[in-house]
Amino acid sequence: MSLLTKKPSFVGGIHPADNKLTRDSEIKDIAPSGTLVIPLSQHIGAPAKPVVEEGDNVKRGQKIGEAQGFVSSPVHASSSGEVTKIGKFRHPSGNEVKGVKIDLDGEDKSVDFKEADPGELSTEEILERIQGAGIVGMGGAAFPTHVKLSPPEEKDIDTLVINGAECEPYLTSDFRLTLEEPEKIIKGTELIADVLEVDKVYFGIEDNKPEAAEEIRSRASGSIEVVELPTKYPQGWEKTLIQALTGREVPVDGLPLDIGVVVQNVATVKAIWDGVRFGVPLTERVVTATGTIRNPGNYRVRIGTRGKELIDQLGGLPEGRTAKLIDGGPMMGDTQPDQSTPVVKSTSGLLALGEEAAVARDSSPCIRCGKCVDVCPANLLPTSIYKSVESGDIEKAEELNTTACCECGSCTYVCPSEIPLVQWIVQGKSEIEKRKE
Ligand code: SF4
Ligand code: SF4
Repeated sequence: MSLLTKKPSFVGGIHPADNKLTRDSEIKDIAPSGTLVIPLSQHIGAPAKPVVEEGDNVKRGQKIGEAQGFVSSPVHASSSGEVTKIGKFRHPSGNEVKGVKIDLDGEDKSVDFKEADPGELSTEEILERIQGAGIVGMGGAAFPTHVKLSPPEEKDIDTLVINGAECEPYLTSDFRLTLEEPEKIIKGTELIADVLEVDKVYFGIEDNKPEAAEEIRSRASGSIEVVELPTKYPQGWEKTLIQALTGREVPVDGLPLDIGVVVQNVATVKAIWDGVRFGVPLTERVVTATGTIRNPGNYRVRIGTRGKELIDQLGGLPEGRTAKLIDGGPMMGDTQPDQSTPVVKSTSGLLALGEEAAVARDSSPCIRCGKCVDVCPANLLPTSIYKSVESGDIEKAEELNTTACCECGSCTYVCPSEIPLVQWIVQGKSEIEKRKE
């Protein structure tokens, strides 16, 4: 019997309007059509190296990019067609990265996927299948999953946390996946609990999604403890989630594995089961298309589908009502310059915001109200960091642990002086990085 318990949350955080307009929208398929642009770098680590050439015909599931080293991940074609370009394309992060353009033939032919019985596989074989399927963290970080599941021997991992929080406003893709595919999520969870040899598994979910919590609770075995957490942003950040669920604190410059914890997002866990059990590589994901987009909802979209293709299939954007397009949610997502960027493995949402999002706000001097300090989940002093970066004192910014910022934007959200704190802090992180190099 699994348990359903309520626990206190983390210190800090905010309560923005959740705007989960698509929570009742069942997942629907978007048919691949036109062209796909598949970046060879959709993960942290070395970009994959192309193993196809222009003019080649490829099928869905065929490897088109080979991982380069352990901290890297292969990339696969998400439908069938002809490779028409290998070159630089804009990634949703804003960087230009090498990618493969495929003109689709409309037949959506697929390679044969090789099924396996996970119970017959060794740990090494399971990790090989996870790596071979190109699975990376789908909650945003895009860290190669096989690496995260291979902690160094000296790290004593005793706890697995499944992240079903989905604390970003507007996004509902993880929620719908949990409601609609709970068995795969549970099987994937049990599989990686075995790989990590942990006894304790928490499934963390915010209390604004009780149906999803109940779905897992009613089906999971006693080894999974489903915990409803207060709805608060950024509950889904690894460090805040771990603090809320286990009471343990990840060190400022440390990782969850330093305190015996591994965290995996629900979409990643489902992809792990598909990859290990059915041999299906990561070539599609659920995306919440929302905001001013006509026919908002949750859609199963092939990796490489460009924003324009997706938006057009959903009926387009209403004339003159969209000022900003974001890959992800409004708090931590990346603003897109246009509709040319593709859905990648970490794209949880495509959000179109109206004119109100484009209103430029003038900032005024800090009134030392301390609100930014109160809400910071990383226990930082956003106002002091901003002042040190603005004055060019990067050494001071480093002393203030600027690099521990998760860029959640909570400080900017509450600042009555409209100071773009997170932008200053991101600049500070980049300056600190440059100094180290
Ligand atoms: S300083 Fe960073 S972690 Fe703290 S509230 Fe601001 S953006 Fe979030
Ligand atoms: S919230 Fe804004 S005004 Fe208040 S202390 Fe922080 S930077 Fe200053």
